[in-house]
Amino acid sequence: MQRVGVFICWCGTNISNTVNIDEVMTAVENMPGVAYSKDYQYMCSEIGQNLVKDTIKEHNLNRIVVASCSPRMHESTFRKAAEAAGLNPYLLEIANIREHCSWVHKDKEAATQKAISLTRAAVAKAILNDELIPGEVGVERRALVIGGGIAGIQTALDIADAGYEVDLVEKTPSIGGKMAQLDKTFPTLDCSACILTPKMVDASMSSKINLYTYSEVEEVSGFVGNFEVAIRQKARSVDMEKCTGCGICLAKCPIKTALSEFEEGLSNRPAIYTPFPQAVPNVPVIDRETCMKFRTGRCGVCEKVCPTKAVDYDQKDQILNKKYGAIIVTTGYDLIDLDYFGEYQYMDHPDVITGLEFERLVNAAGPTGGKLIRPSDKKKPKKVVFIQCVGSRDKSDRGKSYCSKICCMYTAKHAMLLKDKYPDSEAYVFYIDVRTAGKGFEEFQRRAVENYGVNYIKGMVGKIFPTNNKLQVNGVDSLSGEILQIDADMVVLAAATKAKPEADDVARMLSISTDSDSFFSEAHPKLRPVETHCAGIYLAGACQGPKDIPETVAQASAAAVKAIGVLSKSKLVNNPCVSEVDKSICSGCLACADMCPYEAISEKIVEEKANGKIVGRRVAEVNETLCQGCGGCTVTCRPGAIDLKGFSNKQILAEVDAICR
Ligand code: FAD
Ligand code: SF4
Ligand code: SF4
Repeated sequence: MQRVGVFICWCGTNISNTVNIDEVMTAVENMPGVAYSKDYQYMCSEIGQNLVKDTIKEHNLNRIVVASCSPRMHESTFRKAAEAAGLNPYLLEIANIREHCSWVHKDKEAATQKAISLTRAAVAKAILNDELIPGEVGVERRALVIGGGIAGIQTALDIADAGYEVDLVEKTPSIGGKMAQLDKTFPTLDCSACILTPKMVDASMSSKINLYTYSEVEEVSGFVGNFEVAIRQKARSVDMEKCTGCGICLAKCPIKTALSEFEEGLSNRPAIYTPFPQAVPNVPVIDRETCMKFRTGRCGVCEKVCPTKAVDYDQKDQILNKKYGAIIVTTGYDLIDLDYFGEYQYMDHPDVITGLEFERLVNAAGPTGGKLIRPSDKKKPKKVVFIQCVGSRDKSDRGKSYCSKICCMYTAKHAMLLKDKYPDSEAYVFYIDVRTAGKGFEEFQRRAVENYGVNYIKGMVGKIFPTNNKLQVNGVDSLSGEILQIDADMVVLAAATKAKPEADDVARMLSISTDSDSFFSEAHPKLRPVETHCAGIYLAGACQGPKDIPETVAQASAAAVKAIGVLSKSKLVNNPCVSEVDKSICSGCLACADMCPYEAISEKIVEEKANGKIVGRRVAEVNETLCQGCGGCTVTCRPGAIDLKGFSNKQILAEVDAICR
């Protein structure tokens, strides 16, 4: 006989303001199977949890329902409480009367009725719950980090420091990401390369870290502790073992017309190239689209001049199949395309540049050797206008509604770098608001105004007109109402950041989700900021949302700790809510096997007696270790032979009946 205990949580006033708890309690007392019920202000508190534990024992309860917030929030809390009281944790049900009820309704009477229905459904399901015992599965004690920017490098270093092997996969020829392109970094103005390069070198020297640059992850299957991953290592056309990084091939390559991706197209690079001098690894790649040998069959200069015979035109892509216990996604961000921002003349005038191009122009290793000069005539700019929020906080189709978070700070940095180079220059910054939340950030921006005399103008620029070798910037000072016309030598646009264009594909491959802007979604914005909804897959850096370097590094270390938590275990417990096949009904069509994304279903031949003979019959069989409990197969099976433990057809129908009652 089932004895269900029901615990109604007020969640302070979160639930109790909209749901009449007394009315729910009265309804619950009359529900079939309910042996005891109790309400409390904060059921998740220590007192609340003790109340649950003590009541289970005192009232000999064998099923419990907690009507509270989302199971995402506290299912594990109450499962632990049930277990501590000697109850199998899977005999617990949660009725979500907060997110599904009190938070989304205003009408108290209707919300109360809904809370009663949800609780009744949970009770009906709990009555049919069975004890479930999780199995155990071994852990592959190696991590995969996808993306070799500062987030990926830091994550890999932290995991390696803890003694575990890490594979770091970077799709470009070198690790480093956007940070490698920066000149100095706010808020301390230290040289980006000086703080990044040692970390890049550490990563390449670590015996625990394997770098797979010029590589991409192509396929991921499996589950936490046991991911199976196919990595495509693209053909560099240069043998990594033989190449000494002497650079002779780069110097001798006759094709020097490709735009340098690293220099943001401000200079050219040869067909055989390393993206930048401190690249890790310092091994060039041949850009086969540009290379004369690949295009016409002629040339072959690099092969001839290479002293170690490292150039290999026949090299092929390699597919590496590897296993990992945990995956950390650190694929970073891009800047938006400025095609739709015609008013700023970016596409038409060489002296209108992005912030990232500015970084390259002021960098001593950049295309101008650190001389900040106008791309059009190589002259020093005397008056520079910086425009913030280009496409950020812009709800129109061409922009992004969010704040890109880094631009206020890097614009202040750029203005100071300009004044450092040319103290007699003038810097104007157009802004909507200046957002400087961060340690030392406000002081940094104030320094730009007070010490460097940067002119901050609250207002937006309407249009820029190229006139007489100048850029006439027309804007409005929204504080004074004054219409401004500034004849600038150069304009720097703080373009909005955006998710990588392939982020949705990466998310699909990993079975994780993205938000409406295609940034990867964290499992919980406050409590699980580096986890995803897929166990064993974590996030760090700007792939999850706009972030500066300090935040990126902090998140990278946090993600590393989460991954180490998985790698440090020799075994993990399995989710026991897996599918099971009723072999007596199964027709053996294996439609379920075709749809299962985890390849958890295979065929099995069972022996049966038919007409006095033993014959073999094909049926489906679930590998409980591989099954992730997604339930997809249960709706595919026409005879209804597959059920998901903990979510059986009978249980779901009991819930529906209870709601309709
Ligand atoms: P990224 O730097 O974007 O690195 C991601 C890496 O992943 C890249 O190497 C990329 O090639 C790789 N990748 C992408 N997709 C894949 C894939 N599918 N497979 C394999 N690899 C992949 N922050 C500061 O704190 N201080 C500053 O002064 C500062 N100045 C800035 C100036 C400008 C103009 C800009 C635009 C940004 C600035 N930032 C600054 C912000 C800084 O760039 C970011 O915080 C930082 O780069 C985020 O690091 P990340 O590793 O998350 O991403
Ligand atoms: Fe350059 Fe290609 Fe010629 Fe090598 S073969 S030198 S990469 S053009
Ligand atoms: Fe595969 Fe079915 Fe398990 Fe989903 S529930 S993982 S489809 S066996």
